[in-house]
Amino acid sequence: MAYGGLNVKERYRALEAKIADSEWVNRRKVWASWLGNNFLRNLYHAWGHIENTASKQRLSPDQLLKKEGEDEVPKEAWQKRCLVELRTSHTESLQRHLRRRLDVWKVSVLPGHRVQRTLNMSGGLIKFVSPRIWATILRTLCDGWTTHRRMQRQGPCLFGCRAGDDSIVHYASCSVLSNLMWCKLKLDRLPVQDQLAGFLLLEPLWKEGREEMVARRALGVCATFKRHIFLVTPAPQPQALSRCCFIHV
Ligand SMILES: [Zn+2]
Repeated sequence: MAYGGLNVKERYRALEAKIADSEWVNRRKVWASWLGNNFLRNLYHAWGHIENTASKQRLSPDQLLKKEGEDEVPKEAWQKRCLVELRTSHTESLQRHLRRRLDVWKVSVLPGHRVQRTLNMSGGLIKFVSPRIWATILRTLCDGWTTHRRMQRQGPCLFGCRAGDDSIVHYASCSVLSNLMWCKLKLDRLPVQDQLAGFLLLEPLWKEGREEMVARRALGVCATFKRHIFLVTPAPQPQALSRCCFIHV
């Protein structure tokens, strides 16, 4: 990437200004989503992380990336050096954030153990399931489903059990889902007090010999999430669809 050679900051700001300058609202909307995945944006924010990490240690980015005995930061292997710094210096804020997100769950696992359990489980799980399943588990742990409860509305269970509301807390104990998980994935029903922790993969403790069972449970949670998205996403109306096509043509 180049240690400054790509003029990332200037080019990213110019790009942002160009998009903000557009008078066509629809184009601005499309560009905004494209910009979200743009490599200049990723590099710009990665550099921001390095600057933050360096400033916390009262160093300049160059001083942070320099190794002992080096007068200046070599231009080669620049990304690798950044990765080492970011991996080792950001875990504290990550853990603090994760602790806050896990605090919303009333589970049997004690607050002081939740973050470490999550880290152990997610670090082990990534070797057994695809990244998309792993990402769904992380999203579930952070209460990232678009359920009625999270949106502070009321709504029934979307899987038809008529005994609970549209929330992750209910889906952890929903009879329809637990039957499906038993029939399709051979997952035992957990005791009531462990059901939510089980759905979040905080119970049972991640350890050798349990990997396959936890991976199956992760698969069940992922399938539930996918189905939930399908159920909460309204089908496009023909009229709305034609209007949408017209705008893009
Ligand atoms: Zn239900």
